[in-house]
Amino acid sequence: MKRTVSLLLSLLIICLFFCGCTDFFPYNRISDSIISKEDAGLAVHFVDVGQGDCVLLESRGQFAIIDAGEYSEKDKVISYLHSAGVKNLDYMISTHPHSDHCGGLSEVLRSFETAVFISPDVDSDSNSWEYVLDAADERGVTYETPEPYDTYTLGDATITVLSPSSDAVYSSLNDYSVVCMVEYGSTSFLLTGDAEETVEKELVRSGYDLSADVLKCGHHGSSTSSCGEFLKAVSPSAAIISCGKDNDYGHPHKEVTETLNDLQIPIWRTDLSGNIIACSDGEKISISTAENDESVFVTAATPSQQATYIANRSTKVFHSFDCGSVDTMSEKNKVDFNTRDEALNAGYTPCGSCQP
Ligand SMILES: [Zn+2]
Ligand SMILES: [Zn+2]
Repeated sequence: MKRTVSLLLSLLIICLFFCGCTDFFPYNRISDSIISKEDAGLAVHFVDVGQGDCVLLESRGQFAIIDAGEYSEKDKVISYLHSAGVKNLDYMISTHPHSDHCGGLSEVLRSFETAVFISPDVDSDSNSWEYVLDAADERGVTYETPEPYDTYTLGDATITVLSPSSDAVYSSLNDYSVVCMVEYGSTSFLLTGDAEETVEKELVRSGYDLSADVLKCGHHGSSTSSCGEFLKAVSPSAAIISCGKDNDYGHPHKEVTETLNDLQIPIWRTDLSGNIIACSDGEKISISTAENDESVFVTAATPSQQATYIANRSTKVFHSFDCGSVDTMSEKNKVDFNTRDEALNAGYTPCGSCQP
């Protein structure tokens, strides 16, 4: 009897230990070695469209596109789709009618036969959205307005829409973004368009299991999104930020990169790395960042590095990236350095206040 009690106690202690641990060490499915295109049952391409979003999903020869950047990015997106082997699209998801997301979709519709067009029930009188609707009508696509928990099958992957609900009313158009969980085997990707904190908190409150291996941060890494509560619920092993080099909005915002750093979530950024491709074999995910040729599947990429030192071209002084003077420095005067020596060798002197 005594033996049974002590055995049960040991089991209880072991259980408590492991349950406690999962909070601190979520299972990391990011692979160090590359998963080849042949072995990948799902590839998620974060296409670099400058300041905007464009995601291509590929599973077993089926394709879905989520947004296509500004209208000006259309040629880049169309040639990317051709080189990825897209002949026709099984789904097109327009997360919300802002031009940095829907702008390129009109010409994608004209270039590729598209079966189902998914968008939220919200209107906009912007020209880019009108062009998309005109092209969708011309091509006779099937429209769908999803409700939360609607699912769509893409090859061996499943796309589950988590937001918005058709009766939701938001003050920001961004919050109407179609939020998708894309799953293949045990791996998952959460794509939130430009959804902001209001929606992120609604999703947390919904009780839905938001945990995902890869999160595409909402609204290009703006501080309006990626609140701590949401990031903890998603607990991703990798974060993707889609934004333009030296964009006018300062995306990604420091608050977001700092929170991600604090949570030790590595970041891949399209402004620093170009196209980013995540391949899943159902158990592990490899992330690569090269131009859209076969070489993207050859080497696993490291997270996008943020420059550690920022120098001022006009004052010839360099600072640690988090020094207050970096915030007030004009973009055109900024020079990035990864090491202190590089900055010194280039003739810059260390800032007296942050003492880099
Ligand atoms: Zn937006
Ligand atoms: Zn946007």
